[in-house]
Amino acid sequence: MKKQIEQLKQAIRDVPDFPKEGILFKDITPVLQDAQLFATAIELFAKQTENLGFELIAAIESRGFIFGAALALKLNKGFVPIRKPGKLPYKTFKEEYQLEYGTDALEIHQDAVTPGQKVLLIDDLLATGGTALASAKLVERCGGKVAAICFLIELTFLNGIQKLGNYQVKTLIKF
Ligand code: AMP
Repeated sequence: MKKQIEQLKQAIRDVPDFPKEGILFKDITPVLQDAQLFATAIELFAKQTENLGFELIAAIESRGFIFGAALALKLNKGFVPIRKPGKLPYKTFKEEYQLEYGTDALEIHQDAVTPGQKVLLIDDLLATGGTALASAKLVERCGGKVAAICFLIELTFLNGIQKLGNYQVKTLIKF
């Protein structure tokens, strides 16, 4: 498992100053491009989460969808998209969250989760934790319970894990 995680880590490409100056962007596309590595990532997510007893996987737009949908198929779970405002067609709940400058928001369909259902949340990367926290709140507003939040990558120096203190967090790769 350690070797597989190291292989994934090495495939992640650093892109400086994207999408703006000062951000070191962790580009996961080399992982997706390699059939073996993509399968490894999904396999490791499955191992980490298969005993958590959840029924649904909720993923965060847009890179979360890639891993979330593949994992949902592998584990035979339903899939729930959490999207940027204005994209979901039916009645939604909305959560705003703080960015470095200004605010952003995410939405979920109000009937996406049945009250009491356990939901696994997934995204590609944990930075400050604002995106994941807003997503967890959306699941809870539907009446769902967050079984855990999992990420391919965690930027540990940003300490986003602190913001997610109420939740079980699982990360494959730490930088
Ligand atoms: P945050 O809310 O600060 O935890 O930001 C997490 C969200 O922003 C995730 O959906 C990531 O895809 C994206 N993100 C933030 N920082 C980076 C980064 N350095 N490289 C790639 N994606 C990032």
